[in-house]
Amino acid sequence: MPLIVTCKHCGQKNRIPAKHLADTGKCGNCKNPLPPASEPLHTDPALFDEIVAQSTVPVLVDFWADWCGPCHMAAPEVARTAANTAGRALVLKVDTEKYPQLAARYNVRGIPNFVVFRNGKLIAQQAGAVGHEVMESWLNGAA
Ligand code: ZN
Repeated sequence: MPLIVTCKHCGQKNRIPAKHLADTGKCGNCKNPLPPASEPLHTDPALFDEIVAQSTVPVLVDFWADWCGPCHMAAPEVARTAANTAGRALVLKVDTEKYPQLAARYNVRGIPNFVVFRNGKLIAQQAGAVGHEVMESWLNGAA
């Protein structure tokens, strides 16, 4: 399941394969550059698996839920991390209410719960809200 990115120049919807989400692409219609993902990507289990397995850059996953106050407090930090690391990391969000089996796979109990992957391998995991500097340091450490 590729992600669809709308071109800012011409409005064309471009399908971006998981392994190219952190790359600067080119619009299929107008050939203008398509910037790398700079926002957290909401993923279902299929897209999650595809991105974690295929990404050429470190991946930070935010396991969250709508009822969780600290998750909402952490959300702007997660978004800022995605913006600050665009092109050299990817940031995913997994709704643990929608996809409890994915949360269970990583023993996610307390949320928010952050997991860092590199080349498909889990290399760091931490529960609890943190600032974007901390999240970025995890990604820098994983790069
Ligand atoms: Zn375009």
